[in-house]
Amino acid sequence: MKQSILVMGGGVIGLSCALELQRRGHRVTVLEINRCGGQASGAAAGMLAPYSENLESPDAFFRFCLQSLRLYPDWQEMVKKVSGRNFEYTNSGSLYIAYHEADLLALEGRLLWQQQFGSSGSILEGDALFRLEPNLSRNVRAALHTPEESHLYAPHYVSALEQACRLTGVEIHDNLGKLSVTEWRNEIAVQSADQRSFSADRLLVCSGAWVQELSDTFGLRIPVYPIRGQICAYEVEEKPVRHMVFSNQGYLVGKENGTLVCGASEDVAGFDTSVTDKGIDRLRKWNKQAFPFLENKIPFHRWAGLRPSTQDGFPLIGSLTGASHVAFAVGHYRNGILLSPATAMLAADCVEGKNPSEFNQAFSPERFGRRG
Ligand SMILES: Cc1cc2nc3c(=O)[nH]c(=O)nc-3n(C[C@H](O)[C@H](O)[C@H](O)COP(=O)(O)OP(=O)(O)OC[C@H]3O[C@@H](n4cnc5c(N)ncnc54)[C@H](O)[C@@H]3O)c2cc1C
Repeated sequence: MKQSILVMGGGVIGLSCALELQRRGHRVTVLEINRCGGQASGAAAGMLAPYSENLESPDAFFRFCLQSLRLYPDWQEMVKKVSGRNFEYTNSGSLYIAYHEADLLALEGRLLWQQQFGSSGSILEGDALFRLEPNLSRNVRAALHTPEESHLYAPHYVSALEQACRLTGVEIHDNLGKLSVTEWRNEIAVQSADQRSFSADRLLVCSGAWVQELSDTFGLRIPVYPIRGQICAYEVEEKPVRHMVFSNQGYLVGKENGTLVCGASEDVAGFDTSVTDKGIDRLRKWNKQAFPFLENKIPFHRWAGLRPSTQDGFPLIGSLTGASHVAFAVGHYRNGILLSPATAMLAADCVEGKNPSEFNQAFSPERFGRRG
């Protein structure tokens, strides 16, 4: 049945869910306190890297990330077609580098379980590695090469999502300032700072690192915290880094527009999105070790965003048991860009009350219990 749905939050998650729900025939309104894509989503490096981001085991989070990577080829094509906008989407593959023998053992362990989950990865050493990534430091002992991993240009992707939403009929209200959920037990009512009222049959909360503000409203513990990511970019010529290159210190990814993006710190700084010399200097130190040609290069651009981190590392995606017309899709931490298509599908299914998926329990928004 066609429903009216309010989506709170116009980041990559809110916009992806809104687009999917509108395409399924619902009437969707996005409410954004600021500017769509103006927070974590616009700050992201855009890596779609489930294997490089999940080092330990094939848990529910890894499987969800992998599902999302596999949805991407069709999803991004749909977003481009519907929005009429192009954005970079590149299957560069990735290299996870190791400097020491002990780290190589860890890579071999990862490769073993990741091969069982579709990775065609391999460990590369010596000439084979340097042929693939010629400017890599000769101090690198080996790397785990994962050809399946891709990346996109996040700011353009998010703005294409916004345009796709508008063109399919999603109503977007931005720069609303503070929003209050004034009614949710039976029907949904939300009020903006300037006293505008919005009502609907259903509510989907996608407010990223700010979701904890709604704990009192819903009487729920929502342990989602902002973790600042400081990140920078160099101007380069002729793509000197061909793959996404990861280590336990950071990552580098070359973009079509001639920039080399290097991220990212993980600091606890509340909701402060300023960039510090200390944060960027730490990244630069690592960059030079991995790619000596960066020795004297200074990043031309530095920025930061707030990743929505959760207490157990899993996102909160699902409806409330006692109020199934209220759902959440938050807490994607380092992987919200990667997870946008899979979250859009899962959250839309939850909003429509469809059969539970294998992820419902692990990602339940109520798993941390009630407040107080
Ligand atoms: C430096 C950095 C690099 C990253 N790199 C990658 C990467 O390479 N790959 C990847 O997959 N992920 C990456 N991430 C993570 C990714 O950016 C996040 O997981 C993702 O953007 C989260 O999306 P979101 O929509 O939940 O949050 P956001 O983009 O923060 O959007 C939430 C929105 O909700 C709005 N809002 C807040 N409160 C309310 C309210 N009460 N009502 C309405 N609206 C509200 C905010 O203004 C904001 O626009 C990176 C993050 C950072 C910071």
